[in-house]
Amino acid sequence: MKTCPECGDKIVGRIDKKFCSDACRNSYNNRINKDSKNLIRNTNNRLRKNYRILEELNPDQKTKTSRAKLIEKGFDFNYFTSIYTTKAGTVYYFVYDQGYLPLEGDYFALVKREN
Ligand SMILES: [Zn+2]
Repeated sequence: MKTCPECGDKIVGRIDKKFCSDACRNSYNNRINKDSKNLIRNTNNRLRKNYRILEELNPDQKTKTSRAKLIEKGFDFNYFTSIYTTKAGTVYYFVYDQGYLPLEGDYFALVKREN
C-alpha cells in the first residue's frame, strides 16, 4: 500500500498516483522548490561574500595574502565559480573574475582576470 509523501495517508485510485490529492502534491512541490531556492540563495550569498573579500584584498589586480587573513575576513574556501589549470599544472580558483592561487606556507596569490 502506497502512502502520500506529504500527509502519510493511504493513496487510493490509479496505480501511478504519487499523492493523495492535488493539495498535497502542490504543497509538497512548493516546499521542494522553496528549499532549492534557499540553497541557491545561500550559495549566491557565500559567493558574493567571497568575491567582496577578494576584491577588497586585491585592489590592484595582483597581490599576495595569507590564509589567516582570508579566514579572518570570513572567506569560505568551499565556494568558487571555476578552476583554471595552466599548462604547467598550476591551479587557480576563481570567484567570477577574482582568482586565488595557493602558495607555499599558507599564502595565496590573488589575481584579477583580464576581460
Ligand atoms: Zn496527502
